[in-house]
Amino acid sequence: MKLCVSLVLIAFAASAASAADSLFVGDEPRPADAVVLFDGKDLAGWLYVGSDKPAHWKVENGCMEVSGGSIYSKQVFGDHQLHVEFRLPPAKSGSHEERANSGVYVYGLYEIQVLDSYGLTPGGGDCGAIYGVAAPMVNACRPPGCWETFDIFFRAPRFDEKGNKTSNARMSVIHNGVWIHVNAEIPGPTAGAMVRDEKTPGPVMLQDHGSPVQFRNVWARKL
Ligand code: MG
Repeated sequence: MKLCVSLVLIAFAASAASAADSLFVGDEPRPADAVVLFDGKDLAGWLYVGSDKPAHWKVENGCMEVSGGSIYSKQVFGDHQLHVEFRLPPAKSGSHEERANSGVYVYGLYEIQVLDSYGLTPGGGDCGAIYGVAAPMVNACRPPGCWETFDIFFRAPRFDEKGNKTSNARMSVIHNGVWIHVNAEIPGPTAGAMVRDEKTPGPVMLQDHGSPVQFRNVWARKL
């Protein structure tokens, strides 16, 4: 009987482990109403920031890798959910500043920082921070070289008919399944944002900050 219980426990532990692994593969089915921005095949839906020319980041093995400048999606969104998966290159020894750096700009204006902040007490410039506005509640980073996820829930700023802002942008963010921002208020564009106003729906922008960061499975849902 004891052996039987042990076998059941082992089987349960094994299935729990494989379920946990599957959370991290990053190719979970997209919701039926998802607008696919990058499906692993090409960058047809993306342009370079500044030149507005077609993006040509390296696309290989279902992911794209930063090169040649920041890019933005042709599709624009107001209130939306955004799902992004990213992977930092393996860590170099060196100062914090030499660690991998990129960013996901929602609405083209508000950056969720992508950085090698593994194991650090996070500040307002660390991975998962709304850059310069709010540090993540907790460090949810995986080590460099692992795939990670952001699920971002965005409420666009509101304006009255005279163009006066009546409410700031707000964002909730889940990093690797951990809630790191809850309805955080964002007073205005963060550093390095695209040049555009806050009044109209905006694109997703992925930042080139000089590190070969990879992205995959990028989709959004209009809310
Ligand atoms: Mg950045």
